Amino acid sequence: MSILQLLYLASATLFILGIRGLSSPETARKGMNLAAFGMLLAIVGTLFHHEIVTYKWIIAGLILGSAIGVPMSLWIPMTAVPQRTALSHAGGALAACLIGVSEYYRHGISLGTGHMAIIGVEVLLGALTTTGSLMAAAKLQGLLPGRPITYPFQNASTISLLAFLGGFIVYLTAHPGATHLFYILLACSFLFGILLLVPIGAADMPCVITLLNAYAGLTDAAMGFMLANRIQIVTGSLDGSSGLILSILMCRAMNRPFTNILFGAFGKVEEASTEVLESKKKSVKSLTIEEAVNLFNEAKRVIIVPGYGMAAAQAQHAVRDVADKLKALGVAIKYAIHPVAGRMPGHMNVLLAEANVPYPELFDMDDINPEFSEADVALVVGANDVTNPAARHVKSSPIYGMPILDVDKAKKVIVFKRSMAPGFAGIDNDLYLLDHTWMLFGDAKDSFTKLAGALQNVALQK
Ligand code: NDP
Repeated sequence: MSILQLLYLASATLFILGIRGLSSPETARKGMNLAAFGMLLAIVGTLFHHEIVTYKWIIAGLILGSAIGVPMSLWIPMTAVPQRTALSHAGGALAACLIGVSEYYRHGISLGTGHMAIIGVEVLLGALTTTGSLMAAAKLQGLLPGRPITYPFQNASTISLLAFLGGFIVYLTAHPGATHLFYILLACSFLFGILLLVPIGAADMPCVITLLNAYAGLTDAAMGFMLANRIQIVTGSLDGSSGLILSILMCRAMNRPFTNILFGAFGKVEEASTEVLESKKKSVKSLTIEEAVNLFNEAKRVIIVPGYGMAAAQAQHAVRDVADKLKALGVAIKYAIHPVAGRMPGHMNVLLAEANVPYPELFDMDDINPEFSEADVALVVGANDVTNPAARHVKSSPIYGMPILDVDKAKKVIVFKRSMAPGFAGIDNDLYLLDHTWMLFGDAKDSFTKLAGALQNVALQK
């Protein structure tokens, strides 16, 4: 075995171990490190490739890649990880797509049927993943509107375009010399990625990002077949299959049919959303820290519901502090974790683990939902969409059908946020209008720090 093959084998093994490690929060960090080391070995192994004629461009690429990658990892905040991930998908997919184009450019008419078919699939997947990921990043960053954009015959036109692209690839396998058709395929594949993302609402992005991840993996695997590069076939297949499994899990968690996201057909508003809360809008009740403390009188069970706002405020330590103070007063504490709370899968688990919240106190949505009706107080910390009862009954809502935390069923609800601004999906939340809901306006970290102090005083007085 050559050094290159040995290093590729070692890195493929490390990738598999890395993904296995990601299956539990306790081993996730180790899994990440193993996979990163595997990637390093794969890069070093490639440097031994016998077809390399000069290292000049490789070194330039390493310097440029590091110059972009290092600042990205150092300075992009954790709350922006989804958009960062989408940008990484776009970069990887564009690279694979361009390699397909260069192979076609170099060999063109002399390509065999199988080779041409693989290049066609690679270019299609690579191009649509590039523009799709850029659209996703722009929606996540708020550069494009988060609400779904729809137009008549949307699904029919998107699916027809896909059928045309498939037809182009079939024609090209028989006539690889049809150069103009190849470049039309390339341009239309870029367009297809945009059309795929346009009708998808911001709240449904978690499913889409994982699907784009799967597409990027499949592009990589197709490139591996084209270049007869085993490590790329392995990594691409791993990425593609794990991304696919994750997107199926995400769709299940959000009650979205998986088939619909393949065609960008979900998250769309079925009718004009005139169901604005204005008509029923009464003034919401807000309270002070001192008044909030009174709501805990006689409380025995409290459920804490963290969301993106906790991450943005970095309030997890203050939240745990409040939980500790309540426990000292004899209150039982549980944390309710929605699968898409925050901005990435497992976001809340990571933050609460960082604040040393005991893992057994964290409960998944299905386990905690039946307990809300027994809870004396629910504390909503910067969570919005994942608590919005509109998901249950407002058919025109972009989040209709998404399972939510049944916070409204608790006896008393205190919502910690800074204003009445909507959450990620851009829609108002009925929860704030309920008779048993109180708003505590302000930065979550600041409010929880003050609440911990007030609860400490209560404990001292007892
Ligand atoms: P939301 O984005 O719905 O709401 C967050 C709330 O936090 C806002 O209403 C905001 O209100 C409040 N907030 C922001 N900063 C602060 C602060 N400093 N202090 C207090 N409150 C603050 O979050 P959820 O967690 O409820 O829902 C997640 C959303 O993100 C879902 O729509 C999900 O689909 C989407 N998403 C999830 C991904 C994932 O993988 N988890 C990936 C991509 C998207 P205000 O401004 O008034 O303070």
